[in-house]
Amino acid sequence: MPDRCTYFVPGPTWVRPAILQELTRPMIGHRSAEFRELFTRINADLKPLFTTTQDTFIVTSSGTGVMQAALENCVARRVLVTTCGAFSERWYQIAESLGLEVDRLDAGWGKAINPDALADHLARHQRTHYDAVTITHNETSTGVTNDVGILAAVIRDAAPDALILADAVSSLGGIPVKFDEWNLDVCLASVQKCIGLPPGITVAAVSQNALDRAKKHPYRGTYFDFLSYVERAKDNSVPSTPSIPHFYALAAQLENIVRAEGLEARFTRHLQMRDLVHKRVQQFGKVAGDPSHASATVTAVEPAMSAEKIRAEMKQRGYTLGGGYGQWKERTFRIGHMGDMPVEDVEAMLDVLGEVARG
Ligand code: PLP
Repeated sequence: MPDRCTYFVPGPTWVRPAILQELTRPMIGHRSAEFRELFTRINADLKPLFTTTQDTFIVTSSGTGVMQAALENCVARRVLVTTCGAFSERWYQIAESLGLEVDRLDAGWGKAINPDALADHLARHQRTHYDAVTITHNETSTGVTNDVGILAAVIRDAAPDALILADAVSSLGGIPVKFDEWNLDVCLASVQKCIGLPPGITVAAVSQNALDRAKKHPYRGTYFDFLSYVERAKDNSVPSTPSIPHFYALAAQLENIVRAEGLEARFTRHLQMRDLVHKRVQQFGKVAGDPSHASATVTAVEPAMSAEKIRAEMKQRGYTLGGGYGQWKERTFRIGHMGDMPVEDVEAMLDVLGEVARG
């Protein structure tokens, strides 16, 4: 197993061999003292990751499951979905599939949600009671990061009863997430992006307001019931059999993120990777998303020559890059610069990419 990263897909991301080893530990029961000890360590480290003192928990599901859960627990009737790419649109699809009434505020692909447009929408819909508003912190399909703190302040001001549901799937662990300061109600992230684990579990933070709202929904299902996750977490456990290998790997990875590397250093490394990618991309194309909201974790690149040809040639040379997504499938390819990858490995990949993409 090489200790060097050659895999630059925006999730699932490269997993360090030491972390893969954690997945092979012998089983323990999820009601055992050993599991409780493991859970205690994980849940303590989730607080600085989300910058919260409120409830956090872990769900054995990919992020989409917990997006659905957030809507099932928090929305009785109507939700406003802010969209700017494929993953923010996913909230819309899930809400529709649950039979909810959904409004959309669309910034357009590659743009960030404009706080004034959000304020204007909420002012024009003063009589519409939104149970919740969704925000996607980092739109992985376009490489754009939304100003969640500013958007959340707009929502708090204009629609104080609306809960704020935030997707931090491709930001948590790579870009600061300030759950308490931003006044969020639900924030979730699957672990296969900036947290640098294989896919399979999702971490979440919830506010008391979100839990109070969930209490009012008698039919919120069993598997994704936030109240049962929070209740069990108080006892350092989970409601049903979790992916225990992931818990071992998450504990080790949080130790690395929170203490060994440290959050500030990790965020700085992500910015360094982003800046390096942007600089080199100018040699053969351009960054496709709004540069004023350029993501620290993923870049959608619009090359002068065929994006697909570039990816195929990079594959030949031992490097995997992400494909374009949705509306931008043909035009772009994506570079994931998130998780544990060292800056030197990104640089080595960019040297090769420069040769390939200049034709
Ligand atoms: N939200 C964002 C921003 C994503 O990038 C993704 C996946 O790439 C998802 C949600 C869906 O997460 P999952 O694949 O873990 O269900």
